[in-house]
Amino acid sequence: MANADMKDSLREKGVRLTRQRQILLDLIDGSGKHLDAEELFRLAQAQDPKLNRVTVYRTLKMLKHSGLVDELDLMHYGGDQHYYETRLKQEHAHIICLRCGKVEEFFGEPLQRLRKQVESHFGFEILITRTEIGGYCSHCQVLRAREMEQAAEIAETVPHTPPPQKPAPARKRG
Ligand SMILES: [Zn+2]
Ligand SMILES: [Zn+2]
Repeated sequence: MANADMKDSLREKGVRLTRQRQILLDLIDGSGKHLDAEELFRLAQAQDPKLNRVTVYRTLKMLKHSGLVDELDLMHYGGDQHYYETRLKQEHAHIICLRCGKVEEFFGEPLQRLRKQVESHFGFEILITRTEIGGYCSHCQVLRAREMEQAAEIAETVPHTPPPQKPAPARKRG
């Protein structure tokens, strides 16, 4: 959906595309990333210094409710933080590194196949799907292996506590 179609879709829903809504939509749509509300607030304010935090958060909520923007938690890597991306993108899964927070997107046929299987198996009408995969990226796997080695080395150098001393054998009386 192009930007013009998006405006039509908003108009159908009776939503006026105000300047702040347009700024946020453009930022989310154009970033190609998964920005959180604070990052979006900073970027929006750079474009319009009059925009305040409350307006930005309220606008994000409204964009989410009108189905134009998707709100993600990305495996809660950032705690309670939420991330925003356009719903105009093709369906994809998010692959999140739980160590460095890197997010990759997986587009592909298996997702469509899963969707079809769920629909036919459960007779379900799917409105929204969200696929998240958490783990360690190849870079972090190397770093983790090194950390484990170091931890093992430290454990080895720590002296073991000596076993409790046996009481001296009772001396035989002569
Ligand atoms: Zn990583
Ligand atoms: Zn994404």
